[in-house]
Amino acid sequence: MPTVAFIGLGNMGGPMAANLVKAGVRVYGFDVVPAAMETASTNGITVVDDPLEAVAQAEVVLTMLPSGQQVISAYQDSPGLLSAARPGTIFLDCSTINISEAQQAAELAQQSGFRAADAPVSGGVVGAEAGTLAFMVGAGDEVFAEIEPLLEIMGARVVHCGTNGLGQAAKICNNMILGITQIAVGEAFVLGEKLGLTHQALFDVVSKASGQCWALTTNCPVPGPVPTSPANRNYQPGFAGALMAKDLNLATNALDEQGVQAQLGRLATEIYSEFAQGEGAGQDFSAIINTIRENSQP
Ligand code: NAD
Repeated sequence: MPTVAFIGLGNMGGPMAANLVKAGVRVYGFDVVPAAMETASTNGITVVDDPLEAVAQAEVVLTMLPSGQQVISAYQDSPGLLSAARPGTIFLDCSTINISEAQQAAELAQQSGFRAADAPVSGGVVGAEAGTLAFMVGAGDEVFAEIEPLLEIMGARVVHCGTNGLGQAAKICNNMILGITQIAVGEAFVLGEKLGLTHQALFDVVSKASGQCWALTTNCPVPGPVPTSPANRNYQPGFAGALMAKDLNLATNALDEQGVQAQLGRLATEIYSEFAQGEGAGQDFSAIINTIRENSQP
């Protein structure tokens, strides 16, 4: 297995790096937050004070950072990660960022003579800890073949979506569907309540009918029908409203760039942006049902 420089050891990166170490991969890690470095160190990651030192040891430089601007800055701001890499290094970005930023990051790496891939994930912190993430990969065939074994350590599903940027494209399209359907399920349950349907009766019908979807059968927004859904633990995430708002904003940026109409995608972005300005930011995104209910006075 290639040696990995892991940059960004936060909620997702920390457990992902720990799983690589458990599988016997040599991992050098860096984070700007000392507490993240300390946790990583206890999990067997060789932490270094200078990210360039990690990169100089590595064959794969994996970034797991909050935004595209942070990825691009980390790559190129002097002295950037690109300045320290060895010939043949693969720059593998697993952050969720704009498609155009993913393409720009790949171009920067390629212009410096390196190889690049985007591989955003779904599955959240629980999936990162369990090593069951789904990876959506944008890369050439040869790069994909080299990184696939590493991704299989951290994930349960790895899909090669096409060339650079198309991993992000798949992730953003999926999460646009997810945001829209979670709102739709919330609206249907509030309407059902008003009409006198019990949550269980509505669930029993829809979960076996044409309205069936993940937002209902796994992330059911009311307590009861699906005991493991966040609604049963006061909407503790799960997938936080702030992250859904972030991903929908990425989707809207892509819709604008491509000139796609997508009225529902744009409306979902507005709804979750507002939701994430308040306490919804830290709640599971299925708590949008509470906003719908509050705004549903006769
Ligand atoms: P996080 O904020 O917990 O972790 C990001 C880490 O990057 C932080 O520890 C931060 O200190 C560090 N960092 C920032 N700039 C840095 C730099 N220049 N060098 C080194 N470290 C730096 O965020 P997270 O929840 O781990 O998310 C990471 C990425 O994964 C995001 O793009 C997010 O959208 C995506 N994602 C998150 C989830 C989730 O459920 N948390 C699910 C899927 C995808």
